[in-house]
Amino acid sequence: MSKDAIYIPSLLQAVAKTETLAIASFIPGLESLTPARGELRVTHCTTYLEVAARAELIATLICHRCLTHYNQRLVVDTTELIWLDEGDLPLPLEAEVKTEDLAESLPARGYFQPFTWLYEQFCLLLPLQQICSDECQGVAAEAQQHEPPLDRRWAGLEVLRQQLE
Ligand SMILES: [Zn+2]
Repeated sequence: MSKDAIYIPSLLQAVAKTETLAIASFIPGLESLTPARGELRVTHCTTYLEVAARAELIATLICHRCLTHYNQRLVVDTTELIWLDEGDLPLPLEAEVKTEDLAESLPARGYFQPFTWLYEQFCLLLPLQQICSDECQGVAAEAQQHEPPLDRRWAGLEVLRQQLE
């Protein structure tokens, strides 16, 4: 099953109020070598949605140091609770819900978009500093290896070394 958007109230009619999606497609907006593969489960828990997913893909990234493309495996393995905002109803103040557990909210009569959610999860996994490998020398260092800068002082030392030999 593949759905771009799940109408949230329709989950109440689903078995165990849960929809399970098999993920086997590219994530719009995310450059990747392979489509995302895995499973996403969304459960209606009356006042919030529980979204659990395990999915992976090989992302195509550009090294910040040498600007070449490289691949990196990203694995989403997470559960998130999404508060359902009834709009007209105030949030129950007595409910002890840690804010970090409810990072997001959606209108209770709105839509949950699995691929938008997955896109966000994959983006959270992207390293801040994208470096192709530990050995990456970067653009500047590579250029230096090919064209060593001429330095007269070192040239003089080289002449001296040859005279001594
Ligand atoms: Zn690099």
